[in-house]
Amino acid sequence: ADDLLRVAELVRSVPDYPQPGVLFRDITPVLADGGAFATVTTELAAHAGEAEIVIGVEARGFLLGAAVALVAGVGTVPVRKAGKLPAVAASRTYELEYGTATLQLPAGVVEPGARVYVVDDVLATGGTAAASCALLADAGAEIVGFGTLMELTALNGRSKLGDLRVDALLSA
Ligand code: 5GP
Repeated sequence: ADDLLRVAELVRSVPDYPQPGVLFRDITPVLADGGAFATVTTELAAHAGEAEIVIGVEARGFLLGAAVALVAGVGTVPVRKAGKLPAVAASRTYELEYGTATLQLPAGVVEPGARVYVVDDVLATGGTAAASCALLADAGAEIVGFGTLMELTALNGRSKLGDLRVDALLSA
């Protein structure tokens, strides 16, 4: 618990980024600190449980997801923004405040029935997490949970994830 307090102290709150009125939680200092990075990686890996693959959501989810996978002793697969992958297994488009975004799963790496744990740095409105989980479900994966460093509880992103288990190390 003391370790997580220290992690919380390292999260930097940036007013009016990326738009006026938004308080952005910058987790860069957490990743830059060896002890804090080890804490969050180890905690999330413990939650990954029986997962066979850890999914990292572009882009900060890659950094966390890869480290969590290594600690959990499994592989990692990225969920990427559209247009980055040579071959795509599944694709989902979701609404942003302005416009839409598309996320994609690479072909040939997540087998139907594979148990996956999905990781991203921050759970805000839940649109990104919901789209990531939806495309994994499209590919036949069994999602064991969603893990994040920080949940912005006022935005109620959890409500978009149905009864999926959400593991948030910090909340704000
Ligand atoms: P959502 O789709 O839940 O609204 O937004 C989550 C996605 O946007 C995540 O991929 C996350 O990286 C990014 N995001 C949204 N708000 C924040 C924030 O305050 N801090 C950080 N680090 N990422 C955010």
